[in-house]
Amino acid sequence: MARPAEVDAFRAAYRGTEIPPRYSGRAHLVFTSVATLAVVGGCLAQLSAVSAWEWLALPAVFLYANLAEYWGHRGPMHRPWRGLRSIYTRHTLQHHRFFTREAMAFDGPRDYRAVLFPPLLILFFLGAMALPMWLLLYLFASPNVAWLSVATGFAYFLNYEWLHFAYHCEPASRVGRLPGVQRLRRLHRVHHDPQLMSRCNFNITYPIGDWLFGTRAELWKPPPAGPATDADDN
Ligand SMILES: [Zn+2]
Ligand SMILES: [Zn+2]
Repeated sequence: MARPAEVDAFRAAYRGTEIPPRYSGRAHLVFTSVATLAVVGGCLAQLSAVSAWEWLALPAVFLYANLAEYWGHRGPMHRPWRGLRSIYTRHTLQHHRFFTREAMAFDGPRDYRAVLFPPLLILFFLGAMALPMWLLLYLFASPNVAWLSVATGFAYFLNYEWLHFAYHCEPASRVGRLPGVQRLRRLHRVHHDPQLMSRCNFNITYPIGDWLFGTRAELWKPPPAGPATDADDN
């Protein structure tokens, strides 16, 4: 499928204004991975004699994170909420114009900027979200539950980043061919259709929220008047 000219034009403009000259996509990916894994490892090192009920923090935080991903994406990422407009701009107005259903893959490592969260956001997660959660659970549940919950939340975040990164690699590349990636990528590709992006496949990782709320779309369906077919879906 030919790449639309407007995608080429948008990518050129985005690279000119949004990607600093000294930006390194590989360094960005390594920083995100190493910093997040360090937090996960640091939390796990605090655990001692975890009881059976404390392990329940793991599936509970996983499910909570999946639904937060779903509603965050269905809400402020695709709707211009007051006070959160920068999230809408970064996702709907930039990410969805840089990558469309016909142009899902990076052209090179500098394009990682259009997928990965800014490194400062990891500090934001740490301060604004993880710290209060850790404190509340530490005081009202147990220290093990607090450490396990923060570890699970950060591991989930990294899983999100890695999967979203993999969907935007070439499908024939080593990363693009990893088990499970092709199937999940297909769902994300449907979401990247401008006519469907605010209607379906809001989970970036595992489509639990989409399944619960009936917004999962497995196959791309052409809009009523659209001439395109889905024969080239992979
Ligand atoms: Zn995407
Ligand atoms: Zn989206």
